[in-house]
Amino acid sequence: RPLVGVLALQGAVREHVAMLEHAGARAIGVRRLDELSEVDGLVLPGGESTTMSKLLETFELLEPLRERIAGGMPAFGSCAGMILLAKQALDGRPDQQQLGGLDIVVRRNAFGRQVDSFEEDLEFAGLDGPLPAVFIRAPWVEKAGDDVEVLARVPRTPSAGEAADRIVAVRQGTVLATAFHPELTGDERVHRLFVEIVREA
Ligand code: GLN
Repeated sequence: RPLVGVLALQGAVREHVAMLEHAGARAIGVRRLDELSEVDGLVLPGGESTTMSKLLETFELLEPLRERIAGGMPAFGSCAGMILLAKQALDGRPDQQQLGGLDIVVRRNAFGRQVDSFEEDLEFAGLDGPLPAVFIRAPWVEKAGDDVEVLARVPRTPSAGEAADRIVAVRQGTVLATAFHPELTGDERVHRLFVEIVREA
């Protein structure tokens, strides 16, 4: 069983650990460099991306993490984690750091102009049947590079407004990200997909 870390500086850590264990991995919280060096892959949970970016600097994990991701370590970011993995974040703070595993531009709190949080069933590439997705002050992907695989978009429902068709899940090589929180629904399929990516890597 691969060892998968969950960045444990802030945010929804326990839920990811539980889901990873259900999905067939061993899981540990990662706060220190020696823990980061041990894991075969890393989950970056939801929370507040600006705070997490600061804590990464304080705990001296920012550069080591950038290096591991650039070196091919599988990573999965949900919500704030997606923001951290993006090459660029709009509506961020000027001092917010990016880890840069994904050639995407995200917009923070993008749905906030309409509603703060909502649930929606999504079609997710490679998964059979609709995936329940919980969005909490979520970002969306405004732009994705040619090497980025789009896995899910917001469906065109009457209430979707300008959110319709926005990209909310992507993969680039061994880096996976969702704007929503698959750890909150009891549906393990996204975590299984990530554990599979870690196994193959
Ligand atoms: N709005 C948060 C941010 O910008 C993300 C919210 C979340 O992770 N649920 O970092």
